[in-house]
Amino acid sequence: MHNTLFLFGATGDLAQRYLFPSLLRLSIDGLLPEDFKVRALALSPHDTEKFREILRPRLEQALPHAGAADIDNLLQRIDYRSVDLRDAESVATAVRDLADRKCVSYLAIPPGLYISTCQGLALGGALAAPNRLMLEKPIGHDSTSAEEILRSIGALIDEDRVFRLDHYLGKAAVQNLIALRFGNTLLEAVWNRNYIESVQILVAESEGVDGRDAYYARSGALRDMVQSHILQLLCLVAMEPPASLESDRIRDEKVKVLRALRPLKAEHAARDSVRGRYTAGTINGHPAQAYQPPEGSDVETFVGVTAHIDNWRWEGVPFHLCTGKRMPERTTRVVVTLKPVTHWLFERPDRQHATPNRLTFQLQPQENIELGLMSSLAGPEWGALELQPLELELSVPTGLHRRIAYERLFLDAFNGNHALFVRDDEVRAAWAWIDSVSAAWKAAELPLQPYPAGTWGPTSATTFLPPGIDQEAQA
Ligand code: NAP
Repeated sequence: MHNTLFLFGATGDLAQRYLFPSLLRLSIDGLLPEDFKVRALALSPHDTEKFREILRPRLEQALPHAGAADIDNLLQRIDYRSVDLRDAESVATAVRDLADRKCVSYLAIPPGLYISTCQGLALGGALAAPNRLMLEKPIGHDSTSAEEILRSIGALIDEDRVFRLDHYLGKAAVQNLIALRFGNTLLEAVWNRNYIESVQILVAESEGVDGRDAYYARSGALRDMVQSHILQLLCLVAMEPPASLESDRIRDEKVKVLRALRPLKAEHAARDSVRGRYTAGTINGHPAQAYQPPEGSDVETFVGVTAHIDNWRWEGVPFHLCTGKRMPERTTRVVVTLKPVTHWLFERPDRQHATPNRLTFQLQPQENIELGLMSSLAGPEWGALELQPLELELSVPTGLHRRIAYERLFLDAFNGNHALFVRDDEVRAAWAWIDSVSAAWKAAELPLQPYPAGTWGPTSATTFLPPGIDQEAQA
């Protein structure tokens, strides 16, 4: 197991809120090597003592049940270096003394700094085999910038030592999609265009853009959420069974799905997509301000888009993808709606009013699976059977110990398991489709539709929202 972590961006939101708390949990559970060391790096001119002082309350807040000795134990493993990542030579100097250990460099920094940081790491010996590199999403902001990052970094380190994160893949509930699909005859038998009418994937956030303005003004919801989390979920729902659970066999199947996505054309942009931006509103009784991007930025905070997968299994099945900020609640769900039965025998309800079978995988905030069936109420006499929708709820047992995404991803990267990381060809294929969407929007001059904060997006977005989301509902 690798035993040294260079954590770039150590003072940032991601590192302080998720990465260090995950390391603390792994440390408490005894899952880090005895001689594990972390070198924290960022621009701020702290020394090690000051950095530990800043980190301690963040750890106490993130893990209130951790003991002081547990926190001390992790802090003692951490030292801090101030470094300007625009200068490759200073990166090299900051890592050289530890580069001969088995090290992993984690870049939790703006992607514009990836190339100079990696050049510095290579210069300092930290990318030589068997050292590894972990890269946060996003890799670039379109195909061209992604290609530049992939090529420049690819010239410095082999692909089999690069671990690109999409933290959704680290979530146990997301991995469970693979388990449910390929571990159950019941599902796999109907998992195709003969039985499935449509698929809806929703990633809704109640938070706004707050604090990420500079990044978001360039990115918007399409690049921030659809390119990464939503397309990864789509891949897991739509991919063919892999030959084995070996990392590259899973990634081979995911990339085939991405390559089969039909590019969005300008003439279909208004039919197959909606862009929105939140205005002022109310969330859980609290007023929320409108999002006002800086001058010159035209980004959306809501996207609904229908994806078509041009392959044998999915021809004709729409995948409605939807994500938004400042929605009434935080929820991620995948809803699979099945086609009606071939011949309807019942009078009540009549065929038009029968509710289709539906499988809902709620991935967050709680993991939950619902199966919607039609079932009979006891009729007054035989032949007058009356059917009603019945929801079977398969809640995942509470109290089950599930590691948070970054714990799992750290362990996998330290152990060299790539299955939950995104390969270079996946990045390319995902950006190719996203570029087609943004080019179609531009050519069609698709307008931004306003929606009040605390609602489920623009009123024209109903098609993209899963059943069960009541657009009238206000938070
Ligand atoms: P952030 O809060 O803005 O932190 C940026 C970090 O980069 C800080 O530690 C900052 O150091 C450092 N940095 C910036 N310029 C530098 C320079 N020239 N030299 C050295 N260090 C420099 O960003 P974040 O939210 O943590 O996000 C980091 C990365 O993770 C981004 O790529 C983001 O897209 C990705 N990500 C974030 C989240 C999240 O929840 N936050 C989720 C998924 C992915 P100083 O503070 O010392 O200036």
